[in-house]
Amino acid sequence: MSMERPSVLLVEDEPAQREVLAYNLEAEGFQVSRAENGEEALLLVEEVTPDLILLDWMLPNVSGIEICRRLKSRNETRATPIIMLSARSEEVDRVRGLETGADDYVVKPYSVVELMARVRTQLRRTRPAAIGERLEFGNIVLDAETHKVFRDDKLLKLGPTEFRLLSTFMEKPGRVWSRDQLLDRVWGRDIYVDTRTVDVHIGRLRKALGSMGGDDPIRTVRGAGYALG
Ligand code: CA
Repeated sequence: MSMERPSVLLVEDEPAQREVLAYNLEAEGFQVSRAENGEEALLLVEEVTPDLILLDWMLPNVSGIEICRRLKSRNETRATPIIMLSARSEEVDRVRGLETGADDYVVKPYSVVELMARVRTQLRRTRPAAIGERLEFGNIVLDAETHKVFRDDKLLKLGPTEFRLLSTFMEKPGRVWSRDQLLDRVWGRDIYVDTRTVDVHIGRLRKALGSMGGDDPIRTVRGAGYALG
């Protein structure tokens, strides 16, 4: 399902560059949203909640730097990695000097291979399961590449929804997720699902995790939602 793929918001005013980059990102398995300018990016970011933003420095009207600054000052996007794309290395120096809070900078013309590597580096930090990393929490191991979950080295049987729920939890142990946030992340925004469905699948996940014994690692937080650990 789509929500397992990390989403990238691509902000580039040059149509040819935008399409080439979008093509490459999609080929790498990312969901790509495109914005032609900064204003569009600021609106789209609320709609798509991207896992990463690729932001061109030279944009019409509002510059990429300014957009970066605004995104980094908003609570919802503060933690979203931003990679700035810049035409010249002097611009990169200037961008750095301005301390926009960008997480990385790539100079045009960039090699696609290098850019993809930088994208993955950022996502390894924020969406490890989504890019196929192996995650561990106590005696639970989730291998996102083979879609297998082990507890104390024993293979557990998880349905696809339970697997996505556990991936979400294991990417951010301790974080409390509301039912709505879990619906967005695990089921996707386009699908209408009742919040009680979340409880049903949490129950199944708990059962699967406990099938070989061991404590219940999932915490119910009254009035707030669920957390791992
Ligand atoms: Ca540009």
